[in-house]
Amino acid sequence: MSLENIIEVRNLSVFYGRFQALININLNIKKNRITALIGPSGCGKSTFLRALNRMNDLIEGARSEGQVLLEGKNIFDPDTDLLELRRRVGMVFQRPNPFPLSIADNITYGLRVHGERNQNVLEEKLYKSLQAVNLWEELKDRLQENALRLTGEQQQRLCIARLLAVEPEVVLMDEPCSALDPLATARIEDLMHELKKNYTIVIVTHNMQQAARVSDYTGYFLLGELVEFGETNQIFTSPKDPRTEDYITGRFG
Ligand code: ADP
Repeated sequence: MSLENIIEVRNLSVFYGRFQALININLNIKKNRITALIGPSGCGKSTFLRALNRMNDLIEGARSEGQVLLEGKNIFDPDTDLLELRRRVGMVFQRPNPFPLSIADNITYGLRVHGERNQNVLEEKLYKSLQAVNLWEELKDRLQENALRLTGEQQQRLCIARLLAVEPEVVLMDEPCSALDPLATARIEDLMHELKKNYTIVIVTHNMQQAARVSDYTGYFLLGELVEFGETNQIFTSPKDPRTEDYITGRFG
């Protein structure tokens, strides 16, 4: 069975001023799969992730060349609606960043931004989103409490639920477990497995074991280049490029 590409990246280069952070990247993201991006610090993983929903546009001096096709349409086209793009391709960050609002308002915020006013719809989405990240039972009696009072893991789950509320297709995760302890990390990894039934996930991680555990595909970045991309099993057991082998066997990085 050949899997559908939800995103196709073609000849993508990203510059910060005169510095080239990504060099001619070509790679396809498969729908309903988890793709992990690994590589040493500063090699361009986050820059690549941010390119996928044009978050680099928010960085002064950043400029992109090439194409990112989301279901066949180039997101760099001038007619792209950025609010809609970032709804379809949402991002979860290293440090959970709930709004200083109630748990309920955190979830419904994005829906309101997108114009939803129907109370029944908002409540249904609140329930479904918290349920999807296994927080409903835990928090259903605390919905009006400030989200900043939650634990780090609960906050990260809430941030994922906040994205799911607006029904994204792709969820980008930039080291989503780096502020969590190993048990919380394991539970978030379990959650990722559940989510891939309905979503496509792209995760940046500096933790190679995590990439090996959670992902279906892995890309190895080095100094702005995509050195190797393939099925995770292949990358970790029989890498084709000696630079990938050096990295995964711990000789480098
Ligand atoms: P990684 O996620 O792999 O650690 P990044 O994508 O954050 O790598 O960074 C890639 C390169 O781009 C690094 O050399 C970094 O210093 C540079 N860079 C990242 N963000 C900016 C920025 N806002 N302005 C200038 N250079 C940046």
